[in-house]
Amino acid sequence: MIDLKSYDLPELEAFCKDLGQPAFRARQIFSWMHKGVTDFEEMTNLSKELRQTLREKAYITRPQVERKQVSKEDGTIKYLWRLRDGNCVETVLMRYRHGNTVCVSSQVGCRMGCAFCASTLGGKIRDLAASEILDQVLFTQLDSGAEVSNIVLMGIGEPLDNFENVMRFLELVNHPDGLNMGMRHISLSTCGLTEKIDKLASRRLQLTLSVSLHAPDDETRSKIMPVNRSVGVEKLMDTCRRYFETTGRRISFEYAMIDGVNDSDAQADLLAGYLAGTGSHVNLIPLNHVEESPLKPSRRVRAFQKRLEDRGVTVTVRRKLGGDIDASCGQLRRKAMGGAEAAERM
Ligand code: SAH
Repeated sequence: MIDLKSYDLPELEAFCKDLGQPAFRARQIFSWMHKGVTDFEEMTNLSKELRQTLREKAYITRPQVERKQVSKEDGTIKYLWRLRDGNCVETVLMRYRHGNTVCVSSQVGCRMGCAFCASTLGGKIRDLAASEILDQVLFTQLDSGAEVSNIVLMGIGEPLDNFENVMRFLELVNHPDGLNMGMRHISLSTCGLTEKIDKLASRRLQLTLSVSLHAPDDETRSKIMPVNRSVGVEKLMDTCRRYFETTGRRISFEYAMIDGVNDSDAQADLLAGYLAGTGSHVNLIPLNHVEESPLKPSRRVRAFQKRLEDRGVTVTVRRKLGGDIDASCGQLRRKAMGGAEAAERM
């Protein structure tokens, strides 16, 4: 069976051609699917015979709402979706004054092993298909009635570890016959897979790349982010510089503030040394405490921010949304899985 919503328009056209159908059928089917139609019977501008053939050869993904939590504090909605094969992923809808942002997952679980992150505790189960990433935007919008104006690939998973499907998702979600989301309204966050960052640069997309840095020195970064053990901060920063040169797009660096681990003045100075004068932007994230982890939120966020600013770095501190609904970092999926595996990291 074919996962029809993961097809791009040319593939759908080829598929229709194989069925002896004219090319414009592809556009009709594409448009139905991207409106959220999942039953071929509802595609009323297709003949009965064609609908029957499609049903025999293909399926259209539709995640089920396994759990839905709405924050009383700020209206943030967190969805836990059940996928076709029974796996679950999370999506968060955040309401800001400047519009609604949806945070989507790219994998079921994650294999990057960051010490502070709940999504990686059970490892990676599988990559999401492009359709399954798209569905999170599509069905969040349909279920909540909220129009989504921004997308961040910051949910469960490492998007650059699922490179081809994520690129396909971007193409689909950007398509004028689909959701038509502008690339400038999309952010992709990575723990820093340098080869993939170079590969992404070569596509020259207008999206915003966020790099989860979290420490400016190898000793600390390798401790909390295993990915650093093979790459190192120096090489990562070189790659980021190259990304900016190739795409003209400034990178935003994420930095989760962890008590006594990455919040010293010396680390602020080191970070400023890398970033001052580059126009890059640092987003300080108050650490979300994960039950299984001994890491605690830093109490030095403001001091750290000031120190960076004094050294010429642009800094924002991420506002916490949905605190009452565990709206971060794979925590809902963990709970739903009954996740009792002990965290052996740090
Ligand atoms: N794998 C990608 C995207 C998913 S994580 C990445 O690493 O960037 C999205 C962001 O949330 C990353 O910056 C990640 O480091 C951060 N994050 C994960 N767990 C966190 C926690 N407990 N508190 C604060 N930020 C966290």
